[in-house]
Amino acid sequence: MENTICYRLKSQPRKFDKNPPTVCYDKPEAAQVNKAEYDEKRYNAIMGDVVETLVVPKKSARTWTMEKGDLCRITICEGSQVGDMNFWNLDNTKERFYSGKTRQIHSTHLKIYDRLWSNLPYLNPMATFIFDTLKDYGIDEDGGSCHDVIGTRCDDYTYKLITGEDRFGSCHSYLTEAVKERGLTEADVHDVWNIFMCTGFTRDTQQYFCKPSPSRKGDFIEFIADMRLLVALSCCPQGDVSIAVGQFVPDEVCHPLKVEIFRKKDK
Ligand SMILES: [Zn+2]
Repeated sequence: MENTICYRLKSQPRKFDKNPPTVCYDKPEAAQVNKAEYDEKRYNAIMGDVVETLVVPKKSARTWTMEKGDLCRITICEGSQVGDMNFWNLDNTKERFYSGKTRQIHSTHLKIYDRLWSNLPYLNPMATFIFDTLKDYGIDEDGGSCHDVIGTRCDDYTYKLITGEDRFGSCHSYLTEAVKERGLTEADVHDVWNIFMCTGFTRDTQQYFCKPSPSRKGDFIEFIADMRLLVALSCCPQGDVSIAVGQFVPDEVCHPLKVEIFRKKDK
């Protein structure tokens, strides 16, 4: 008898009310920048001086600093390549980029005029995304888009979980190496902004997916620092992400990224 009841219950799936989605977070005023003001900041910085130029070699990471108001341009200088970015308040490195809250305030993939927010209890805008040559990619038919803050960086621990093999060679390990010169450690490396990467979630199983980056030589993004920043960028060893994690990635799909810092004159 008991078995019959269980069987009947299983054969009749529970019914739920269908409700329309409600966007959880009304975008706060501080998350809506004055576009004309930021376009002017961009213009003034670009018309000013290039105060630093560096190239992050493929399969490695580098750091740099920015003053408030500086503009950073990151360019695909050789071939398609994705980058993993970390940000800290230069004057207090306990304050750092919070990808999860940035995702809640804006969306899974950052668009121009979106801002990068810091962790609690600070919750300050750290930088504002201001220019993107890939902006017309939009959201594709699979829900894929560029520059996600879905959350994390490739790392050797997960690589071992998938392949069973030890390795040194991931954005997490490159970032860890790069921040040492700034007095930071592995514990300071955090979830990233995945620039130039094309990602989404599968509709049927809601799994994280990636596609080859649509970026090509000459593509670039720009952001403006909203506080004094320490920034780190890793050139992902997945290169243009045309090959799944755990499979062999040939050197030809990995490339460097060029970084330039522009500063308004007489600043
Ligand atoms: Zn990576």
